[in-house]
Amino acid sequence: MFQIQDLQSITPEELEKRIVNLGEKPFRAKQIFKWLHQHHIKEINEMTNISKELRQQLLALAPLCKLQMAERYESQKDETIKYLFTLSDHNIIECVLMRYNHGNTVCISSQVGCRMGCKFCASTLDGLVRHLSAGEMVSQIYAIQEDIGERISNVVIMGSGEPLDNFQACIDFITIITSPLGLNIGQRHITISTCGLIPQMRQLALKQPQVTLAVSLHAPNDAIRQEFMPIARKYSLDELLATCAYYIEQTHRRITFEYALIQGYNDQEQHAKELGQKLKGLLCHVNLIPMNEIEERSYISTTASNTQHFKKILEEAGITVTIRRKLGEDIAAACGQLRRGYLSK
Ligand code: SAH
Repeated sequence: MFQIQDLQSITPEELEKRIVNLGEKPFRAKQIFKWLHQHHIKEINEMTNISKELRQQLLALAPLCKLQMAERYESQKDETIKYLFTLSDHNIIECVLMRYNHGNTVCISSQVGCRMGCKFCASTLDGLVRHLSAGEMVSQIYAIQEDIGERISNVVIMGSGEPLDNFQACIDFITIITSPLGLNIGQRHITISTCGLIPQMRQLALKQPQVTLAVSLHAPNDAIRQEFMPIARKYSLDELLATCAYYIEQTHRRITFEYALIQGYNDQEQHAKELGQKLKGLLCHVNLIPMNEIEERSYISTTASNTQHFKKILEEAGITVTIRRKLGEDIAAACGQLRRGYLSK
């Protein structure tokens, strides 16, 4: 059997198998899962309806995942809160809470660092340190829920890391948070963001989850995309868009394309026109993102009027466009900036 990093990483099905193997009744697995994922216990002894012996056997299987809050920054401009959590091996990860009228959204990390190498992103500057376990991913949500005393209704896997590079943990994470024995978050309230790992996108499509797939495009053609995104040298834009079409066909879900407007690189009228042509006929929507400028790179954000013009041209091509609101700007709430700042302190 495979090695489990922590108890919170075990899916309901796997937990039941393990519990039955220990000679227990299946309903024990449900009780244990609820302690972990509804009561978010901190110590195994809090499982009061589970025998001491079984609690010991559980701990022999794997430890409890415990995140420590290292820092918490509240935006003065909006209601965004940014968190740094310390993992059991002392690595640091960051998450963001965004409050919208329709509920609380948490942006979680899937890896410590990242190996995708996108040039505008602070998470990748020092490469990949390690993958997060599914338990470490769910624990980010639990810690934030506990901090604010409110339910989290939406989750985006858009923090540090490339989720599809940590594929199985992300699938387990989705299984766990959508479980009625856990947070019971609907698949449609979950977004996975990828820079475009084609084989894993196809795998995800075959599992037909109803989660929203967001694809980081940031360019209308290969030449521009290759400038900032190493993955674009591995997979062409045409291959990527063909995979998106396949994903839509399999899941009947609309894809979100993320496009950060970077002054002088991808923000001109001809880029919008080219993008409009490329996306024609795809069940999709484009989210224009104001570039978050990071210290280590010279990329700067486009102007507000360029953003509006870009939007208008895409709309003329029949594509729905939203402009992402800039939240938590005053607390460096973007893409690995906070963790780097903290580590260099
Ligand atoms: N690796 C995944 C998810 C994490 S990044 C992905 O690439 O999609 C989440 C989003 O933030 C991606 O669209 C990414 O390209 C974008 N991003 C990274 N750094 C940014 C920055 N400095 N400004 C604006 N968006 C950025």
